Parts: sequence; structure tokens; C-alpha cells
Amino acid sequence: MKIAVLAVQGAFAEHRKMLEALGCTVTELRQKQDLTQDFDGIVLPGGESTVQGKLLRELDMYEDIKSRIENGLPVLATCAGLILLASDIVNDDRRHFGLLPVSVKRNAYGRQLGSFHYDGEIKGLGIFPMEFIRAPYIEVANQNVEVLAEVDNHIVAVRYGNQLAAAFHPELTEDTRFHQMFLEMCRRKIK
Ligand code: GLN
Repeated sequence: MKIAVLAVQGAFAEHRKMLEALGCTVTELRQKQDLTQDFDGIVLPGGESTVQGKLLRELDMYEDIKSRIENGLPVLATCAGLILLASDIVNDDRRHFGLLPVSVKRNAYGRQLGSFHYDGEIKGLGIFPMEFIRAPYIEVANQNVEVLAEVDNHIVAVRYGNQLAAAFHPELTEDTRFHQMFLEMCRRKIK
């Protein structure tokens, strides 16, 4: 299975490492030319959503990636990636791909609690180690969005069709189950 990881900014190397450990061939998307190939899924990593959104447009990669996701390419989005996918950002005027019908709040945990660890339940997986780094949370999700995890009554992981998104960073732990859930979505798509 071939998975593309958006690699214009942020924590893409950790996703690559985890996906390779799970037996995937990984290709990094750094420039428009990297989009001439086919792949079975795409990862939008954590980092800084404003920078990533700006680079995607400047590098002329935005439309291609957006239409692939719209056409059913499975996507795993973490943290800033979730912000890129969201249809609404409550505390930012910018919108990026806008394909996931949720309203997110950037840096939602404030300064004091900028980064923290929480062992929380993920639907279908059980207790999972969640690493939050200046994380967003989902304030409101469309009724068709499947909520996979909540922390303190705030939604932190969802699934919607071909899109899997988390406010935390599964790639920064040793636990591969969230990535495996994504690869399962990719496998189902291929069949
Ligand atoms: N705070 C970042 C943003 O708003 C997200 C942080 C992260 O990806 N770890 O884009």
C-alpha cells in the first residue's frame, strides 16, 4: 500500500516512520510534481495550519489534493491537519480544504494547558495514549460525522466517509492502532 504524507511543514517524518513500520510504501508530498503519482491514502500532519495552508496554495498543490479527497481518497489528518480539513474554524477567518463538516477551535486548550497527555477511549480501539500539542478541538460536528473520542466533553477524533481526523498526535506514540484504522479505510477503498 502506498501512502502519501504532506511534507511542506510540521510533523510528517513521524507519520512516515510509523507507516513504514506498518509495511507501507511512503511518498512525501513536497512540491506539485510529487502529485503526478497515484497513492492509496494521504496524511495531513500536525504543525501550523496557517503555514501549511499558505504553502499549499503557493506551491499550487491545494486544488489537486482537495479534489482527490473529494473524490474519495482516504485521508488521515492530525492536529493542524484536522484544521486544514474543517469546514469551519471558529477563531480564524481562514478556511482551507473545508471538506469535513465540523467547526474547530484552534489552540483550544489555551496557553497553560498548551500541551498535555491523556489516556482516553477511542471508539473501536479502547484506551489510547493521546498527545495534545497546542491542539484544536471540535466544537460542533455535523450529525453525519461519527464521533470517535471526546475529552472533557470536547470532540477530539472523528470519522466521516473517507476522512479520519484527530486533534492529538498518534504518530508521536508507540501505539499504531489509529494508523491501522486508517490503513483499514484505505484497504476497503481499494477493494
Ligand atoms: N496550533 C496549531 C494550529 O493551529 C496546531 C498544532 C499542532 O498541529 N500540533 O495550526
